[in-house]
Amino acid sequence: SHIIVAIDGPSGTGKSTTAKIVAKDLGLTYLDTGAMYRAITFAALEKGIAPENSSGIDQLLRSTRIRFDDQNQIVINGINREKEIRGKQVSEAVSPYSAIPAVRKTLTEWQREIASERSCILDGRDIGTVVFPHADFKFFLVTDLKVRAQRRFLECQEKGIAMTLEEIEKNLAERDRIDSCRATAPLKKADDAFEIDTTQLSIQQQVKIIEDRVGV
Ligand code: C5P
Repeated sequence: SHIIVAIDGPSGTGKSTTAKIVAKDLGLTYLDTGAMYRAITFAALEKGIAPENSSGIDQLLRSTRIRFDDQNQIVINGINREKEIRGKQVSEAVSPYSAIPAVRKTLTEWQREIASERSCILDGRDIGTVVFPHADFKFFLVTDLKVRAQRRFLECQEKGIAMTLEEIEKNLAERDRIDSCRATAPLKKADDAFEIDTTQLSIQQQVKIIEDRVGV
């Protein structure tokens, strides 16, 4: 039958790494909602549209086509932008764009549409609270900031993304602050979400905790 698994939490808590593995093991479609917010941010930066420019943002939302290719990489208006959306520029600009109500409304609609057709595991900030308040399973991941920054730093090195450990730590903290304080769909744990502190856990351990609860 059709199931929805929500994984929320601050930046760099291992949501996407975990969700990808669980998706593969349990045969669910993985939907990286952060990549969608990053994609809109990339498109806005490319066109020079500021977050305050509401007619520009509306126009951008109407004209931007976002999809995931068969390797789950982001394609924006027909071009693979996976590397660009993970870089410094987009990482530093994404939270202000994500706070715009029109952006959230449009992306929430896309997410619901995609997940209406198949069983999905979605990772984000507002999946269990706003996008799918009736999700079958909800998880909220938390991790100490230093550990998150170190993990993300290694990931960036692997992908050839140029950001220092200091820049990454600052960016994670700043995004969490903006994401938690915004008026629309702020980052917060849903009351009925199961919280997992991954500070001391390996990826395999956090995957197992989730898979044991979701079952097969
Ligand atoms: O998950 P990721 O770090 O790629 O998300 C990038 C940014 O996108 C977050 O810092 C947040 O501002 C925004 N986001 C959001 N709601 C989601 C997913 C991501 O606001 N569901």
